[in-house]
Amino acid sequence: MRCPKCHSIEDRVLDSRLVKGGMAIRRRRECLRCGQRFTTYERVEETMPLVVKKDGRREPYKRDKLIAGMRKAFEKRPVPAQKQEELADEVERFLLSLGEKEVSSQVIGEKVMSLIKDVDEVAYVRFASVYRQFKDLSDFIEELKTLMEASQKKGRRAPVKKKASTTAKYAYPRLPLDEEEPP
Ligand SMILES: [Zn+2]
Repeated sequence: MRCPKCHSIEDRVLDSRLVKGGMAIRRRRECLRCGQRFTTYERVEETMPLVVKKDGRREPYKRDKLIAGMRKAFEKRPVPAQKQEELADEVERFLLSLGEKEVSSQVIGEKVMSLIKDVDEVAYVRFASVYRQFKDLSDFIEELKTLMEASQKKGRRAPVKKKASTTAKYAYPRLPLDEEEPP
């Protein structure tokens, strides 16, 4: 593994252990050239099923996408980021437990929703209200990105209600997350 400081690839492993309920191996490494210490994680990824999208396309499962969706749903909610990581772990354990080579994105979306529901009702409503419009986690996350970019451009409060547009792919409802800020 390339040293983040001097870019040498010569290192030795100081410590190696299972983390995230056995889903990953954490390795503490030391660069043999400059002595820099750094940490690497090895995750079970090749055994994750492919995600089958609504339109039939297959794509590799991406944890980052899942986390991005949850981060938006939990925005300004009293739920630590660590909890979101744990939920992602739980989704991954569930996907692995299916023992399938492929899994529908809807199955993933439903699982995420059921987990979020147990943690935070507001986040659940946010996630579900948008997700159910799309029925596809990838489309859903794309839409969230659009919303986030719009709100960054227009200040802290972007109007979600979109004017009728011939280019809009989907109509979506006004989200509760845009209405909760106290005056
Ligand atoms: Zn180094």
